Amino acid sequence: MITRFAPSPTGPLHLGHAYSALLAHDMAMAEGGEFLLRIEDIDQSRARPEWEDQISADLGWLGLWWPTPVMRQSDRLGVYQERLQNLWKRQYLFSCDCSRRDVQEAASAPQEGAAPLVGPDGVVYPGTCRENRAFAIGADVPTDTALRLWMDRAANMAGEIHEDGKMLSFVETGSGPNDETGLITFSAAEVIKTIGDVVLARRDMGTSYHLSVVLDDAAQGVTHVVRGADLFEATKIHVILQRLFRLPTPIYHHHRLIRDEDGKRLAKRDDARAISKYRAEGATPNDIRRLVGLPEA
Ligand code: GLU
Repeated sequence: MITRFAPSPTGPLHLGHAYSALLAHDMAMAEGGEFLLRIEDIDQSRARPEWEDQISADLGWLGLWWPTPVMRQSDRLGVYQERLQNLWKRQYLFSCDCSRRDVQEAASAPQEGAAPLVGPDGVVYPGTCRENRAFAIGADVPTDTALRLWMDRAANMAGEIHEDGKMLSFVETGSGPNDETGLITFSAAEVIKTIGDVVLARRDMGTSYHLSVVLDDAAQGVTHVVRGADLFEATKIHVILQRLFRLPTPIYHHHRLIRDEDGKRLAKRDDARAISKYRAEGATPNDIRRLVGLPEA
């Protein structure tokens, strides 16, 4: 078993991150497996080396160990670009210049004031730029615009590529936000409607969380992805990408989110629950384990 913790170095590690990392670590150790750390720093406008150092220090203090050097997404932009080129040539992508506001407005228009459909990646794309699907055979993927996955083609092809025929699926050993567990199946039609044409390359980054996470989990041989239940729906996007790239689908273990007293999930800016703060106040690693409901080490 290979698990990983994949933080973005854009703020302090808080109790929710500690829970995710400890759980991924404990699961791997219980099976004599390996726990990896990966730094998800594609958003270079927000990532800071100081946060990365702080994250490593906090994880080390919690008693976690991981092999070095760690994988850093900012070192892999060439890999992402090469995979985008591959998808572009296979006609799964289209360029898109819509702003967030354009998307919001176009998605609201037909419903006359009704709230637009929101998927794991925000408002479901209303298809404005889909007509840009003018694929010049042999042309290079554009790098000066955002690229969206043409979900209709991608989800239908992903269903066919797999031996099961049209059924898309993954195995969940934790649970989704509505207690989904076990073999999770979903159809291409559902994904087209509820998720839509997600951005696979942001203009300012040349990649996206979805593309990078899928390629990196595969490159690191991750067998069990342990992460918060807020990413359960996004897993459907990841399964489709795995099929298109003919990569194995790992087992997924989505866990409950750690919430504050008001029931709100913890955010990066929630310094009150930063691990460094507990450390400064004299807490022990086992105190943190107790706080998040994990057995002591
Ligand atoms: N960098 C992502 C986050 O911090 C990781 C998500 C994942 O584990 O797939 O939310």
